[in-house]
Amino acid sequence: MNVINPATGTVITEITEDTNLTLKSKYNLLKANQPKWAAVDIKSRVSIILKFVQLLKDNVDELANILTSEMGKPLQQSKNEVNGAAGKAEWLANHAEEYLRSETMQEGATKELIKYEPLGVVANISAWNYPYNVGVNIFIPALLAGNAVLYKPSEYAMLTGLAIEKYLLLAGIPTEVFQVALGGGKVGEMLLDFDFDLIGFTGSYKTGKLIYEKVAPKMIPCIMELGGKDPVYVADDIADIQAAAIGIADGAFYNNGQSCCSVERIYVHETIYDEFCKHFLAEVQSWKIGLPTEEGVYISVLSRKEQVDFLQNQVDDAVAKGATLLHGGHKLPGSGYGFEPTVLVNVDHQMSLMMDESFGPIIGILKVTSDQEAIELMNDTKYGLTAGVYAASQDRAESILTKLNTGSVYWNCCDRVSAALPWSGRKNSGFGSTLSHSGLRAFARVKGYHLRGV
Ligand code: NAD
Repeated sequence: MNVINPATGTVITEITEDTNLTLKSKYNLLKANQPKWAAVDIKSRVSIILKFVQLLKDNVDELANILTSEMGKPLQQSKNEVNGAAGKAEWLANHAEEYLRSETMQEGATKELIKYEPLGVVANISAWNYPYNVGVNIFIPALLAGNAVLYKPSEYAMLTGLAIEKYLLLAGIPTEVFQVALGGGKVGEMLLDFDFDLIGFTGSYKTGKLIYEKVAPKMIPCIMELGGKDPVYVADDIADIQAAAIGIADGAFYNNGQSCCSVERIYVHETIYDEFCKHFLAEVQSWKIGLPTEEGVYISVLSRKEQVDFLQNQVDDAVAKGATLLHGGHKLPGSGYGFEPTVLVNVDHQMSLMMDESFGPIIGILKVTSDQEAIELMNDTKYGLTAGVYAASQDRAESILTKLNTGSVYWNCCDRVSAALPWSGRKNSGFGSTLSHSGLRAFARVKGYHLRGV
């Protein structure tokens, strides 16, 4: 399989895909050795993961270069991602003992305990948009809890996957406990024939649904981290409209809009709408566009060629249905897979732009007349990952946030993930949770101990 640099369209290297046979031997190796890893005391597991964290921090430049070369992320954003992944892994390692230790629920004639036991062998089928960041959400807590992991990076992030493996092994994770499966969707699908104890999937709703349906008869539990169509609402009491516009523009366009929690829809109260759009546009027009390796570039290429046509179709559909193009709207010139940062107004929910995940540098801004209208529009989606409100009053913001059917909500911020808080989707954005105490415990099974001495 060719690894292609999306900024130039050139082949970086060739990778040999896994076959059913190689997958089988990797799975069997993990299955046979997982109990030994589970028997390693948690302090040692934590210290290995903390060594991995240090290796990530010590090798930011190398890891960022690999990421930029195969998925086109601007180099500074790649460095931010490596540092972010290291920070999340560190939080998980530092809290593993606290949240995975057994708990005494009742003393007395019958002592009652809860123990958090490893699941066994976990498959981690992953996405390309934040390969370090979304990978650590799954393989780090899985390893900390005593599981073995078969990690399948996306076919668009295989070099990143191999770099992760290199540093995990260097940190002291035994090779029999962490294996990498290389290849595309077919290799992912082959994995579903094995008896994993959990599938941690990060990717699109379409693939997530397919995986869930396929493994359901085997009763294999899944964690599904899927797509989003995340809205933000700007209320009329906001004090600094310009600051809100700049923050939301970053939330929509950072990583070229290729984030599961990118802002994908903006609703603005009619009284501040014109001013908001003016500042938003000025911010978008100020960005440097170019190759991902150029200093100061904010918007670069998309990772996948097909995405250019998908975005063009969304823009064309919106314009045909009455939207006004304020900025951009076309492929960027050159051989890379670039698309202009694009802003549309006069949009509505009949347009694919406002209903289907764009996963690119395009956004629609819609004028609303009340908080109630904003709530209804924000909830009018198949997805439920995140939603944000920009407002001066916390009470007003919270009264809106409680009515939004998403796994995360934001007040005066957006496009944000924290290791200390659960990361979970609702509806077509998935289910189960990573990060926080619930994300650590997600990779263990609880067992109730009823202990009565004679
Ligand atoms: P994708 O669904 O195309 O691929 C994800 C993974 O699934 C890849 O490794 C791929 O090879 C594998 N795969 C493809 N077909 C398969 C099959 N039939 N059986 C088993 N595996 C298969 O998604 P993507 O393009 O890599 O990622 C983008 C999507 O991921 C977006 O929708 C984005 O919102 C979502 N995402 C969600 C989160 C989150 O935390 N909720 C984080 C990052 C990305």
